[in-house]
Amino acid sequence: MILFDEYTNSPEETEELGRKLSRMMSTDKLPRFVAMYGDLGAGKTAFVRGAVGQLIPDAEVCSPTYSIINEYSGEGGVVCHTDAYRITDDDDLYSCGFYDYIADGAIVLCEWSENIPFAIPKEHIRLEITKTGESTRRIVASVLP
Ligand code: ADP
Ligand code: MG
Repeated sequence: MILFDEYTNSPEETEELGRKLSRMMSTDKLPRFVAMYGDLGAGKTAFVRGAVGQLIPDAEVCSPTYSIINEYSGEGGVVCHTDAYRITDDDDLYSCGFYDYIADGAIVLCEWSENIPFAIPKEHIRLEITKTGESTRRIVASVLP
């Protein structure tokens, strides 16, 4: 089922869609794992900045490419931001606590989900970002029926 299928014309618009997804997750019964797909520079981190900012307004979101996981917490709960760009095997995910966040019911947003198909929970929101121009992106969010 498609949750939304929209085009954005700036990083700010992509952040706004991230905020929208967080609002949907707070009000609708949706999975708390967001599997993100899209090339380098697609706008995954921009999207996460909006999604996290909606829940934890003073969070400073930066790319966890080197740290693998960034945790943000506040009144809006715990949000885990993962970047699987450098993940090569499951041991890396265990040692950084990836599975603990899922087990604890945190919201998890995972960049480069294409690298870890074996680790994506069955119940997840699929978030695909495609570059359609220099500053335009197509962003599709869906869940399994
Ligand atoms: P990723 O995490 O997918 O590698 P980032 O969010 O780090 O991508 O970077 C996206 C880059 O694309 C930024 O430099 C941003 O300014 C640029 N950009 C241009 N148009 C858009 C848009 N519509 N949405 C998101 N980012 C955009
Ligand atoms: Mg990124």
